Amino acid sequence: MVSGNNYHAYHNVRQRRFCYAQLYLSSILIFKFKQMIIEKINYWGVQNPGHIAHRSGGKALTYGELLQRSNAVAAFIREQLQDKEPKVPVAIRGHKESEMLIGFLGAVKSGHPYVPIDSSMPEERVEKIIQTSGATLVLDVEKISEITNSRFSEASAPSTSIGPDDPFYILFTSGSTGDPKGVVITRNNLESFVSWMVEEQKFSEQKEVFLNQAPFSFDLSVMDIYPCLVTGNTLVSITRDDVSNPAQLHKTLQAADLTVWVSTPSFAQLCLMEKTFQKKILPKLRKFLFCGETLTSKTAAILLERFDQSEIWNTYGPTEATVATSSIKITKEIIERYPFLPVGYPKPQCNIYIYDEHDQPLESEKLGQIIISGDNVSPGYLGRPDLTARSFFKIGDLPAYRTGDQGYLENNLLFFKGRMDNQIKLHGYRIELGDIESNLETLPGIRSAAVIMRQNNGTDDYLIAFIVDENSNQQTEFERTRTLKKSLAEKVPGYMVPKKFVFMSGHFPMTTNGKIDRKKLMASVK
Ligand code: AMP
Repeated sequence: MVSGNNYHAYHNVRQRRFCYAQLYLSSILIFKFKQMIIEKINYWGVQNPGHIAHRSGGKALTYGELLQRSNAVAAFIREQLQDKEPKVPVAIRGHKESEMLIGFLGAVKSGHPYVPIDSSMPEERVEKIIQTSGATLVLDVEKISEITNSRFSEASAPSTSIGPDDPFYILFTSGSTGDPKGVVITRNNLESFVSWMVEEQKFSEQKEVFLNQAPFSFDLSVMDIYPCLVTGNTLVSITRDDVSNPAQLHKTLQAADLTVWVSTPSFAQLCLMEKTFQKKILPKLRKFLFCGETLTSKTAAILLERFDQSEIWNTYGPTEATVATSSIKITKEIIERYPFLPVGYPKPQCNIYIYDEHDQPLESEKLGQIIISGDNVSPGYLGRPDLTARSFFKIGDLPAYRTGDQGYLENNLLFFKGRMDNQIKLHGYRIELGDIESNLETLPGIRSAAVIMRQNNGTDDYLIAFIVDENSNQQTEFERTRTLKKSLAEKVPGYMVPKKFVFMSGHFPMTTNGKIDRKKLMASVK
């Protein structure tokens, strides 16, 4: 049974057509004159409802379905959260199913930001995220499916929308004390990023097919989701199953007919291990967009050789400054000139500065901390004024963020030179080593833990945990390692579980200023 007059009205087909016509006209106006993400995506649902918006795991979702089903989710959320503050986030839980996108748009249409949670996340971590975010409603893929087949299925577009400074989504990243921290991204932040991407990359409307590699809980996925959907194009997700099966991955990529590739450089390196990964399987591919970790000149050169029809773009930025802040097209000339590739020129409405340790701006070519300032900088971490105050500040009227990255500028071209702290990137995943250490130290029998990244031929390879163990018990090191890996995997995502464990007695070697001497630890393993 339909409840409420709103839903009743939509059983009347003529009325529905009239409403669609209204939506169509207002969408055209908004589309032409304003940068409103939701309205632009709605527009394609009316303009070309049969066009495919998303493909994943053998299923397809059209723009018409995305419009109607996200309206249904919005109506459901509004009913559920009518007494709650509009800014209370809604957690959307799943993997790469289309229902995730329906949930994201549904939440925002209902006036609430969303928190994407990947289904691979261990329960304990999910609990922490939900608690920190204050989400009182968690929608998983099954629930979203159920809502869109219920009395809400015919719901109209809700009248609530989020304001320019309201949060659009909240992404949780690794935090150094063992608790994930939620980066708030406002509608303005996202619009600033998306309008830059669409303009700079000159995506055609309704002709492109974008690759979505990153899980939706990582901000790299925002680089494909929104630039793709606002231009009425098709997003193709590769799933965990695809990644774990090279033959299936190859098939999915080939069948996708991609024109725009968005991934971490690590993922492209993985694909390049297959000799067949070349122009022949992706004949229409015209762009590779990379972000999130170092793109080596070697990887870029091989890609240019194998895909001579495609451009390669290196982009740089942290989640806190909405996906990417700088970009550069990597050509043969750039590779020849800079064996260590630059990460780009700042986007419009954004300044990049290099600061010394006293927060003073440095001259060109001097190495220091990368500071980002502009309309893409987040207002801060949800519910953590302490962490926000440490990293976010103002330069003039504009918000600014201390990245913790080291780098320098050469004629406004940015070069990234590593981290100033214990945050690392492993296969594209952002990890605070302190997050793993704190979680290890909560396990029974562990006095202290230190985690380091093992390098192989200059590239990051795997994590090693050093453990000072109270448990000099009967278990062998092999058994102890197995137990610890299992217990840790119940607390942190799989990519944060170290591959190797080294057990020590006494205490860790210390530097003169009293910190764990990670270099010595590194040197102690073969
Ligand atoms: P995330 O918040 O997961 O996007 O990670 C942001 C961090 O990834 C940055 O602070 C950098 O340390 C690193 N990063 C992002 N883009 C690049 C890039 N193009 N090259 C090297 N490192 C990068």
